[in-house]
Amino acid sequence: MVSAGVDALPDMLTRLKLTAMRDRLDGLLDEAARCDLSLRETLALLCGAEVAHRDERRIQMDTAIAKFPHQRTLEAFDFAAQPSLDPKQVRDLAACRWVANGDALLIQGPPGVGKSHLAIALGREAIRHGYSVLFTSATALVTTLVKGHSEGKLEQRLSQLSKPRLLILDEFGYLPFEPAAAHLLFQLISRRYERGSILITSNRVVSDWGTVLGDHVVATAILDRLLHHSHVLTIRGDSYRLREKRRSGLIKATPVPAQAGASE
Ligand code: ADP
Ligand code: MG
Repeated sequence: MVSAGVDALPDMLTRLKLTAMRDRLDGLLDEAARCDLSLRETLALLCGAEVAHRDERRIQMDTAIAKFPHQRTLEAFDFAAQPSLDPKQVRDLAACRWVANGDALLIQGPPGVGKSHLAIALGREAIRHGYSVLFTSATALVTTLVKGHSEGKLEQRLSQLSKPRLLILDEFGYLPFEPAAAHLLFQLISRRYERGSILITSNRVVSDWGTVLGDHVVATAILDRLLHHSHVLTIRGDSYRLREKRRSGLIKATPVPAQAGASE
C-alpha cells in the first residue's frame, strides 16, 4: 500500500530535512537500478549520501569557526624536505587520539620549518574527527586575556577559550610576555588542564620559556601542566621558505646541507 504519492516525495524529504537525498534522488535511484541494488542497499545508498553531505557541511562550519590563518594540509607537507621529522609520528598524531585524551602537543623549531603548517594540518584533522578547534597566535591570545582582565571580563574570556576541544597557540616565544600576561596564560592553561588539548608552536625550547614569560615560577607551573601528558615534535634544519628562495637563486645556499640536522 502506497500511502503518499511519489510526487510528494521531494516535499516529504524537505520536511524531514533530508535535502541531499532530495537533491540527488534521481541520480541515486538510477545508480541503484543500474547496480541492481536491493531495497535495503538502496536505502543505505540514499542515507549514505545524506550523511556524507552533513559531515562535509559540519567540517566546513567548524573550519570557519577555527579561524585558521591559511589553508594547510598534511597531504601538502613535504616530509622529504624535513628529515628531522618522523612521518609515522605525525600520521599517528593525525589520528587524534591525543585530542581524545586531552594531551598537549608542542611543535618546536626555528622559523620557516613548517610548525604552523603542521599545526593547521593537525587542527583540520581534529575537525575531521569531530572535535572543535580554535587557532590563535600567542600574541592575539595574550591581548584578549589582558583586555578581558582590564574590562572585568576575564572569567568570560577564560570560559570561551576553554570551550574548544583543541586550542592551537601559534608562535609562542616570538614576543616576550609582560609578567601579568604570563599569569593570565597560566590561568588559561590551568583551566584547560585535563579538559581540552592544547597545541603550541614555538621557536624557543622549553628551557627558554621562563625568559619568554618573564617569570620562571609561572613558566615552571605552566610547563608542569603542559608536559604532564604531552607529545613533542622537534623540527630541525633549514627554513622551507628560504629553501624555495635558494632554489630560485634569490639567496645563496648555506654551506651546511639541508639534511645536516637529520642524522642526530
Ligand atoms: P614556521 O611556522 O615553522 O615558521 P611555516 O609553517 O609558516 O613555518 O612554513 C613556512 C611556509 O613554508 C609555509 O607556507 C608552509 O606551508 C611552507 N612549508 C614549510 N615546511 C614545509 C614542508 N615540509 N612541506 C611543504 N610546505 C612547507
Ligand atoms: Mg609559524
